[in-house]
Amino acid sequence: MVKILANDGIDPIGEKLLVQAGYQLVVKNFAQDALADEINQNNFNAVLVRSATKITKEIIDKCPGIKLLGRAGVGIDNIDVSHAEKKGITVVNTPNASSRSVAELVFAHLLGMCRFLHESNREMPLSGDTHFKDLKSAFSKGIELKDKTIGIIGFGRIGKEVARMAYALGMHVVAYDRHFKGKVDLELSIHKHKIPFALEIISFPELLQKSDFISIHISTGKGEKSLISEKEFALMKKGVGIVNTSRGGVIDESDLMHAMNNGKVKFAGLDVFENEPEPSMKLLMQPTISVTPHIGASTIEAQARIGEELAKKVIEFFNSK
Ligand code: NAD
Repeated sequence: MVKILANDGIDPIGEKLLVQAGYQLVVKNFAQDALADEINQNNFNAVLVRSATKITKEIIDKCPGIKLLGRAGVGIDNIDVSHAEKKGITVVNTPNASSRSVAELVFAHLLGMCRFLHESNREMPLSGDTHFKDLKSAFSKGIELKDKTIGIIGFGRIGKEVARMAYALGMHVVAYDRHFKGKVDLELSIHKHKIPFALEIISFPELLQKSDFISIHISTGKGEKSLISEKEFALMKKGVGIVNTSRGGVIDESDLMHAMNNGKVKFAGLDVFENEPEPSMKLLMQPTISVTPHIGASTIEAQARIGEELAKKVIEFFNSK
């Protein structure tokens, strides 16, 4: 019988699918240092994790019974994938399930920042009762997204979803991706209606120069040189708004603070940070910043889709054996 451990939990939809498929599923959190022994003692064939559990080279070496490793989510940095594959273990993840949630968070940051919600939510509890009129005047020059240009950097699953939502809001959309060029056709799906539209993939410098707002969705970044630092900020329009929900380090944080302080960047929305889970307090304290603690994929709907996508991949894997 197939025995599966979900060490960081699994959404009830995924749990139901795996149990219905006839597998023995154990949803329990074993401590990192006890994990290898528990996997061996319980004869687990598959281990499913979210981001908390690390599947290291040592665990893989100690547990020859593992056939499949599953990551509920996109990034698989917490699994030593190359070592697992060397040992003949299949590794699956759920790259499609969270695009909509991340894209919606981008617009939560953008719409919020355009109307100063990030600052207003900080200031109103402090002095909303005594300085209402001052705050009203400070936050009165909001802007609309409609008819503005959004530049999307990284045109994969999430970048495309952001493009669809931006188009639906009446924005002009341009994109840059190191793997695409030219015109791209997309479709916006609203209820039963399908609305085709097209956009241009342009060069990186052109995107930086043209965009009123920039949203970053590249899949690389960790350990690489920042994609956006002083030189790139210099090319941007004065007063640009920038959102990063991709990976910490893609924007150089000290150059970003400098660009915010000199007015080049009007505001920034960040869900990811260079030094997670202990981001720079200096950065977090910037008044023109809207911040979330890496919650892009963390909606109830995305977690359900992630659980379902993962369970289907597990079932497909064991059915093919
Ligand atoms: P994807 O692989 O579908 O698309 C990424 C695109 O970026 C690809 O088309 C690739 O060609 C392009 N790209 C990569 N490096 C580039 C570079 N240096 N310059 C230009 N283009 C580049 O990925 P996705 O599913 O759309 O995810 C995008 C990012 O969002 C990833 O970094 C992922 O880890 C992150 N993410 C964050 C959250 C969150 O909670 N904030 C949730 C899910 C995904």
